Amino acid sequence: MAVPQNAIPSLSECQCLICVEILIEPVTLPCNHTLCNQCFQSTIEKASLCCPFCRRRISSWTRYHARRNSLVNTELWQIIQKHYPEECRLRMSGQKSEEMVDEFNFLSSRGNRNQRYRECHRFGMLAF
Ligand SMILES: [Zn+2]
Ligand SMILES: [Zn+2]
Repeated sequence: MAVPQNAIPSLSECQCLICVEILIEPVTLPCNHTLCNQCFQSTIEKASLCCPFCRRRISSWTRYHARRNSLVNTELWQIIQKHYPEECRLRMSGQKSEEMVDEFNFLSSRGNRNQRYRECHRFGMLAF
């Protein structure tokens, strides 16, 4: 992914297309597809050694950069950390958007419970 030095990348440009999270330690493949290091490890190193997007074989590229410890696109990683420090911090602290969805469900179900509670309470007041 070619990100101009001084332009602020949009959040969607800084998201991994696989896990749809902010790119933590982005790995840019020779075909210019980028994914986060975590997805790279789980989908490429362990499985196919092909780009998950265009199926290009990247086994020799992966071996070369894994040996030199240069898989991470440090330039892009620095840009992401600079512009989206909060997103990076949230993801690295283990909070995922899945949990935000859970929290939303929790809030709406709690809302229903409160309503039921209020109804019971009103009924109780009448009874006394
Ligand atoms: Zn990812
Ligand atoms: Zn690709």
